[in-house]
Amino acid sequence: MRPSRRRFLIGGIGAVCLLLAPTVRALSALAHELEHEHVHEQGKLRAVVNLKKCNGCETCVDVCPEVFGIEEGDEKAFVKEDPLPPELEGCAIEAAEECMAGAIKIV
Ligand code: SF4
Repeated sequence: MRPSRRRFLIGGIGAVCLLLAPTVRALSALAHELEHEHVHEQGKLRAVVNLKKCNGCETCVDVCPEVFGIEEGDEKAFVKEDPLPPELEGCAIEAAEECMAGAIKIV
């Protein structure tokens, strides 16, 4: 392939990618929102602890002992309730907000 034709093709592909990127981002955000809404409607939120980030400070256990625990001799939190019962969603969300390590995600 001649260099000028290749450059034209690469430029064209780049332009198409630039044009599509915002649409793909918007669709991805919408899909995430819909998925979250769907999960939330069913009362199936989940708390997830990232063990690489967790430092075992026990804040989550203090804030929401019904959902989070740390085994004796262990330094990582675990989730007791999966999925979260609707009545415990609030305290799990609060624990996630209080986790200074950012180790808890509510999904
Ligand atoms: S608050 Fe965060 S860092 Fe501390 S034990 Fe819980 S999950 Fe780990």
